[in-house]
Amino acid sequence: MGQHTIAIAGCGPAGLASALLLARQGHRVSLFDRFPEPRPLGSGLMLQPSGMAVLAALGLAEAAMTRGALIERLLGLCVNGRTVLDARYSELSGPRSMGLGIHRAGLFDLLHAAVAEHGIELHAGHEVVGSHSVPGGRMLRFAGQADAGPFDLVVDALGLHTPLAPPCGRALPFGALWVTLPWPEHGPFDRQRLEQRYRAAREMVGVLPTGQRPGHGEELALFWSLRCEDYPAWLDRGLDSWRDEVAALWPECAPLAEQVTDPAQLTMARYAHRTLPVPAQDRLIHIGDSWHTASPQLGQGANMALLDAWGLAEALRLGGDPALAPALTVQLRGWHVALYQWATAFFTPLYQSNAAFPAHVRDRVFAPLSRLWPGKQVQALLMSGLLGAPLRRLGLERVDYLLSRAGTLGRR
Ligand SMILES: Cc1cc2nc3c(=O)[nH]c(=O)nc-3n(C[C@H](O)[C@H](O)[C@H](O)COP(=O)(O)OP(=O)(O)OC[C@H]3O[C@@H](n4cnc5c(N)ncnc54)[C@H](O)[C@@H]3O)c2cc1C
Repeated sequence: MGQHTIAIAGCGPAGLASALLLARQGHRVSLFDRFPEPRPLGSGLMLQPSGMAVLAALGLAEAAMTRGALIERLLGLCVNGRTVLDARYSELSGPRSMGLGIHRAGLFDLLHAAVAEHGIELHAGHEVVGSHSVPGGRMLRFAGQADAGPFDLVVDALGLHTPLAPPCGRALPFGALWVTLPWPEHGPFDRQRLEQRYRAAREMVGVLPTGQRPGHGEELALFWSLRCEDYPAWLDRGLDSWRDEVAALWPECAPLAEQVTDPAQLTMARYAHRTLPVPAQDRLIHIGDSWHTASPQLGQGANMALLDAWGLAEALRLGGDPALAPALTVQLRGWHVALYQWATAFFTPLYQSNAAFPAHVRDRVFAPLSRLWPGKQVQALLMSGLLGAPLRRLGLERVDYLLSRAGTLGRR
C-alpha cells in the first residue's frame, strides 16, 4: 500500500479515529477543525460493543474503560412504575459485553492524546467552507485562509451541519436538555444502569453514569426531553417549574435538578434525522454524522462514526487506491448504516412524541415482546450496535469486557 496525502476535516470521534487509523497505515494525514483549541462539546454518551471494538483495535479500549462507567442494563419505567424498557447486555451470546457511559470530553481526550502522540498535524482555527476537485486530487477551502491541498483523499467528518454536502433530512421535533453533574455518593442511582422515566412519550428524564474523566470526580449526565419549539417557553417558565416537573416524573432526580441553578448549565441538544444519498464522491468520503445523523435514542451515533472510520481504513487497506476508497467504504458500511437509520427513525417516536399512540404501542406491544425469546436477544443486539453483524464485515472482533478489564487486550 502506497503512502497517500489525506485531509480529514473535523475532530469528532469520526475524524480523530480515522486520523489515527490512516496515520498508522503510513499515510500523511492532516486534521482540520474550526475550534480555536482542541475541545469537545456536550455531555455524556454511550459507547456500545460496536464502537468499543474499534477502540480495542486502536489499543484504547482499556483506557476508555478507566474513564467511563460500565453499563449492564438500560431500564425505562413509566411514571406509574411499570417497566417498559429493560435491555440487558447479558442477553448477548459470545464474549461478555457491556455499554460504556463516558463524558464526551473523556472520549475526545483519549483520541486526541493518541493523535498527538502519533505526531499527526492538527490545524485548529480552520473553518472549512468547501472543497473542489483538481486533476489527480481534491482541495479544501477555508473561511479567511488559503486553500489546502491537493490531497489524494478528503474525509468529511464535519458532523451534522457539514458544508461539504448538500442539506438533506429533517430536524426532529424533540431534542433534550443535558447537564453533567457530580455522581451523588449516597444517592439512589445504580452505577451500572442507564435509567429513564416516562410520562407517555411526552416527557422523559434520564440518568446516564459517565464515570470519571481525568481531573474530575465521578459524574453523570442528566437529560430532559423537550420539544425544540417549547424551549423559549421553558426558559420563560423558569427553573423552579422545571424542577417540579422533574420531581413529579422521577422524585429521586429532584436533588439533581436542585443543583441546576442557571438555565445556561443545561445544553439544549436539537436532534435531526438525515442520511446523505451520495456519501462517496470523487476523492471525498463523508463519514460519521456528516453521512448519517439520527436521534440518540438508540445511542449509536458515535459508535457508527467509529465504525465508519474503521471501514474507511479497511477500504484503503484492501483497495490501495484513494480514488476507489470512498465507494468501497460505502460498500463496507452502507447496509449497517441503512439498518440503524431505519431502526432509529422507527423507535424514536415511541420515546419522544406528543401523540398517545406511540407510547401505547411501546407499552402494550414492544414491552411484552421484549420480555420473551427472541425479543430480549434482538433488543440487546439492537442496543449494542451489533444487529446486522457489522463487525464481521469489517474484520473486527467483539471486545471481551472481562479480558479488557484485566488489561490483556492487544493492539493492532
Ligand atoms: C445530546 C446527544 C446525545 C448523544 N448520545 C449519544 C450516545 O449515547 N451514543 C452515541 O454513540 N452517540 C450519541 N450521540 C451522537 C454522537 O454525538 C454523534 O453521532 C457523534 O459525535 C458524531 O461524530 P462525528 O465525528 O461524526 O461528528 P461530531 O462529533 O459532530 O464532530 C464534528 C467536528 O467537526 C468540527 N466542525 C464542524 N463544522 C466545521 C467546519 N465548518 N469547519 C471546521 N470544523 C468543523 C466540529 O468542531 C467537531 O469537532 C449523541 C448526540 C447528542 C446531540
